[in-house]
Amino acid sequence: MIQRKEDEMVEQATTGGEQHEFSAEVGRLLDLVVHALYSEREIFLRELVANAADATDRRRFEALTDAARTLPEDAKVRIDPEKDARRLTISDDGAGMSKEELARNLGTIARSGTRAFGQELAKHKPEERPSLIGQFGVGFYAAFMVADHVDVVSRRAGSDEAWRWSSDGKGSFTLSPATRERPGTDIVLHIKEDADEFLDAWRLEAIVRKWADHIAWPITIRRDGE
Ligand code: ADP
Ligand code: MG
Repeated sequence: MIQRKEDEMVEQATTGGEQHEFSAEVGRLLDLVVHALYSEREIFLRELVANAADATDRRRFEALTDAARTLPEDAKVRIDPEKDARRLTISDDGAGMSKEELARNLGTIARSGTRAFGQELAKHKPEERPSLIGQFGVGFYAAFMVADHVDVVSRRAGSDEAWRWSSDGKGSFTLSPATRERPGTDIVLHIKEDADEFLDAWRLEAIVRKWADHIAWPITIRRDGE
């Protein structure tokens, strides 16, 4: 395998958008998260709902100094399972991410806590590991415990541009132009063969009650077909 500098981005001309390599650190982390935490994979939803709520808080804060970023009155987190399409989407009306923010936040890890996370994970028994994932801020990658492909469509509040980040979690991601009616983010999980349970609205509701009860924004779960 070719060794690359951790922050190096490799761009290739592909039909599916610009291709970027994950930083080496993200690659290692993805391996750890996907394999070490398998038994508690329902926490992916806690992580994605927490991120959606954080982004909504962030937008509310940004709106204090930039009226163009004002939150809609009905700002919420939406969870939308689609059984036939085997897709689960978590959407928010939050601050969103620009193209650069997508590449940086979801492709590299600037936080020093991440290296520590890997070391901590190895020290703990499997049943103690789920609580570590949130603590160390590697939450987004938990999506790959239940999805074999993840698309993130995001429009930064205050901007008209939207971008799609897309990855199978195996070394690289692509960035391509997209459209989104309102600012905010959609995390679209293409659910793995053995993870059907996460397409069931009742199961999702139980997970939200267990892990996301403290979230300050409304959370709605769409019943499939409604
Ligand atoms: P943490 O939440 O601890 O920062 P995560 O891996 O969960 O770590 O998320 C990484 C970063 O990606 C976040 O800090 C944030 O900048 C960005 N991000 C993730 N989800 C969203 C979202 N729904 N809206 C806006 N930004 C997001
Ligand atoms: Mg998070």
